[in-house]
Amino acid sequence: MVRTRPWHAPDDSAYHDNTECLLGQELPVDRRRDGEGGKRLCPLCAALNKAEEVSRP
Ligand SMILES: [Zn+2]
Repeated sequence: MVRTRPWHAPDDSAYHDNTECLLGQELPVDRRRDGEGGKRLCPLCAALNKAEEVSRP
């Protein structure tokens, strides 16, 4: 399970909800905020989430 509660940075255009997302990992902890922040899902997270669903038995 790598999908988790969403987080975002206030000055970014997307939120993240996958712990494997490199873009999400690069966010410094002090810039992270909980929730979706009214933003769209990060494309990399979306791809990771989709790959995860496909590989699930
Ligand atoms: Zn992401």
